[in-house]
Order: sequence, then C-alpha cells, then structure tokens
Amino acid sequence: MQRLALCLALLLICGAVSAEQIKPPVKSATKAPAAGATKKTAAKPAPKKGPPAKMLFGAVTAPAPLAARAIGSYARGCLAGGISLPINGPDWQVMRLSRNRNWGTPQLLDYLERLASDARARDGWPGLLVGDMAQPRGGPMITGHSSHQIGLDADVWLTPMPDRILTPQEREDITATSMLKDPFTVDPAIWTPLHTKLIKRAASYPQVSRIFVHPAIKKILCQQAGKDRAWLGKVRPWWGHFYHFHIRLKCPPDMAGCENQKPPSGDDGCGTELANWVSMLRKAEIASAHPAVPGAKPASKKPPLSLGDLPKECMTVLSAGGGMPTIAPDGTVPAALKAEAGKDAGPPAPHLDPEALAALKASMSKSKPGAKAAPAAKPADASASASATAPPAQPASTAGPAAPGAQPASTVGPASPSDSVPLPDRKPQ
Ligand SMILES: [Zn+2]
Repeated sequence: MQRLALCLALLLICGAVSAEQIKPPVKSATKAPAAGATKKTAAKPAPKKGPPAKMLFGAVTAPAPLAARAIGSYARGCLAGGISLPINGPDWQVMRLSRNRNWGTPQLLDYLERLASDARARDGWPGLLVGDMAQPRGGPMITGHSSHQIGLDADVWLTPMPDRILTPQEREDITATSMLKDPFTVDPAIWTPLHTKLIKRAASYPQVSRIFVHPAIKKILCQQAGKDRAWLGKVRPWWGHFYHFHIRLKCPPDMAGCENQKPPSGDDGCGTELANWVSMLRKAEIASAHPAVPGAKPASKKPPLSLGDLPKECMTVLSAGGGMPTIAPDGTVPAALKAEAGKDAGPPAPHLDPEALAALKASMSKSKPGAKAAPAAKPADASASASATAPPAQPASTAGPAAPGAQPASTVGPASPSDSVPLPDRKPQ
C-alpha cells in the first residue's frame, strides 16, 4: 500500500515538474500538456444550441398560419404565411415534389407565374420547370442550399418544359440538362438563343434583385446580349448553376424584418469580374483534381445555424399553429431524418480529363505572379485546349439518390476559391 502511494506521489511530481519545465524530456512533454488541455476542455461547458435549425425547419410540412412575410436575410431567415406554387400551371410544372420546397411569399409566386406566362407568350419558351423554392416555413434546408430561406429565391431549370404533364415519378427521376461542355464553357450544341431570352426576361422585372448562373453561362450571355446590356448587371456568376438558374427577388416594399442584399454595382459584369471568375474556375478545377492530402487540415466548416442564429421571430414562425417538431432526447429531430430530399436535380459538374488538366496546370504556372501574363487577358485559352469529360448523360431513372455528403450543384461550390481572387458576390446561394 505504502509503495503504491509512493509510486503515485512520484508520478504526480514528475508530471507536475515536466509540465513546468521549459525543455522537458520529450516523453513527458507530450503527456503533460495533453493532460492540461483535457482538463481545460472538460471545464468549459458545451454550448447548448439545440438541434441545427435545418433539422427543425426541414421537419415541418405545413406553413406558419401567420401573415405572409420574409423574415431575415436570404441565407439566415424564415418564412411566415408561406404559400405553395401549384404543381401545374398553364406555363409551368414543379419538379421534385417529394422535397416539398415549392413555397414562397405571394410576391414570389406572382413573379413566377408572370415570368412563365411572359416567357411563353413573348419569347416562345415552352414553360418553366420549377426546382427548389423554400420550405413551408422557409429556414435552412437539410440538403442543397444555404439560401432559399425566406421565400424570395427560386431555382428554374434550363431544360424546357415538355409538352405534357409529367407524372410525379417523372418529376423525381428526370435529370436537368447540363449546359456545359467542359468546366469553363457552355456547349453550343445545347445552349440556344431561347435560353438567353429566358434569362434576360427573368432579369427584366424591377422586383428582381439578382439572377445566379454558372460563370460560363454568364460569359455566353455577355457575348449574346447585343446592345441592350442593362439587365446583365443583375445576372451574377456563381458556382453550380449550370443546369438551372436562380432567381432572387428584392424584399417586397414595406416588409418589416426582410433584409435586402446590397444591389449589384450596375456594371454589366462582363469585364474584370468575369475574368476573375474564369480564373477561380481554373483554380477550383485544379483543386478538385487533388485528393485530400492525408493529415492536411480540412477546410474549416462552419457549424450549422441553430435557431438562435436566426431572427427571433423565426421561433414564432416555427412554433405557430403547433408546428414545432418533436425533438428526441438525444437531440435529433426524427421527422427531419425521415424527410429525405429527392434525387439531385442535375448531373454532376464536368471535369477535365488528365491531359487537359495537365495542360491547364502548365498554363497556370506560367501565369503565376512574377510572370506578367495575367490570366484574365486570355480568357479563352484553357477552354480551347480542354477536351473535357462530358457530363454523363444520365438516363432518368438509373442514378440513385445523391450520395450522403455529396453537394447538390446548387450549393456554394466545388472548392473554395483562393481568397486572393476577389469574389464579387460572396453571399451564399
Ligand atoms: Zn438556388
């Protein structure tokens, strides 16, 4: 017993000393601070934030019985009194009905109905296939978007509506058509003047704040716009939008608590901004080809928004009419786990084949700082030499649901671009 006590005492002293020594022996040095660190973390109480807000809002299947209002900002807010876009209209059909994301403010519904009708009557676009809008009470989503939270955002496919009513199953299975022939270029065999007209039409209404499209689409719009270019300023490049475009409305006038995004600069965005995007696309393409280095620090991932991160009124929105979903003792939200979002709406983004990638890397290293050639000066070179792997033409029913963790293409992007490149519109999608 005495010997045991002595041993323990020695151990403690040894530990204490080694922790204080400036240059302790290697072995104790690794042990002592580790023990200290454990103590510190144990002493700090874990913040009680509740389940992620996306679980709560993702579990609710009906709107909040309140006056219609967009509350908060596009990527941090919720929707009161949401209404649903009818799944069939004269000029539109809603896709992926299982997601239950065809909700919005009355203003968003009015806008979509008007766009569908004008695009058909005036431009000859056969009708809109409408993708994700908002959840019944808005808020963050379990999959797919960081915005679309307040009932003022809507995704519209770049695939024209077929000349018949699609079955619910078809609306789950059909994959939208990619407009890209490689990571940087629109496929001229797929893109038509009608696509340009549709996006121009969508941007033309005064209530539109922004339209998001893939940078390659922005590029072709810049080329095809002609003299009337004012609408181009609202059309902003963003990752992922190569089979659909994203409409964002301004806050309706006098809607208290709705936070507008800063208006775009007014520039058509076809100059430096687009060149910067091309440069970012190239960097992202190279980054996406590198598997994560073992032991490398993973890109910092923001924790999901909790209810406390949203405007206070979102608590009222969530619980109105007995809407608050049940939270299990382990903190999960069973209804949210059941609410599977349907199959990804579009094909994966195309990537360069190894040869084209090597050529891109070589051209990028030539134009690194020091060498004066600015990549922006030759925007077309990478795509000209790129023989890309075409986006897989997915037969509608073969591809299963998106792999867990796979990001649907409408989320923020394939890789975070280097911070040294100015990112014109940092607001997430
Ligand atoms: Zn979107």
